[in-house]
Amino acid sequence: MRLLLVEDDPMIGASVQRGLRQEGYTVDWVRDGAAAELALADKVHEMILLDLGLPRKDGLELLAGLRRRGVAIPVLVITARDSVADRVKGLDAGADDYLVKPFDLDELSARVRALMRRQGGRAAPVIEVGPLALDPATHAVTLAGAPVALSRREFSLLHALMKQPGVPLSRAQIEESLYGWEEEIESNAVEVYIHSLRRKLGADAIRNVRGVGYMVPAGS
Ligand code: CA
Repeated sequence: MRLLLVEDDPMIGASVQRGLRQEGYTVDWVRDGAAAELALADKVHEMILLDLGLPRKDGLELLAGLRRRGVAIPVLVITARDSVADRVKGLDAGADDYLVKPFDLDELSARVRALMRRQGGRAAPVIEVGPLALDPATHAVTLAGAPVALSRREFSLLHALMKQPGVPLSRAQIEESLYGWEEEIESNAVEVYIHSLRRKLGADAIRNVRGVGYMVPAGS
């Protein structure tokens, strides 16, 4: 799960990025509204954490522009503007939730999980493919009902594959979902994670599609 954090305050930005990375998210951080728009053009993020008072383009303006263009990505506004009028403005501009600074990192990650659960109005957020079940909100994975402990990257990789069972993803697509910009990708990292997932989930859990990439077989 790759998130875009838009925050110009270096202390808050660094602490949010660090906190959410510890929770297993891939977090890209930009410091102004214009950089956020550039980042979003890549369409690799699944949620935006948006400060409102930003250089180069105000958060509200950015958000309103996204919604005008029909971009439905979930947006959690994080801001010091705590007056009722400002909250209403944020929600009117298309925010899905609102968190007022200063906030606790635990509350932030709870809000992120809640927003993910609500995304697309799915009643059952757990993804099930054959004996595998993955809960994107809690990061829990079970195999035939038994919990499996995965690292952050193993989880992200499995999540990317389970979202589209039966559809192979190329190595480049997998790397895109696993790594933020400033994170260096080791050349054989994807193979290493696949190997480790197969060891934990069984050799057949992830199939190699020759010349294409990897997939979780549908209904395996
Ligand atoms: Ca700010």
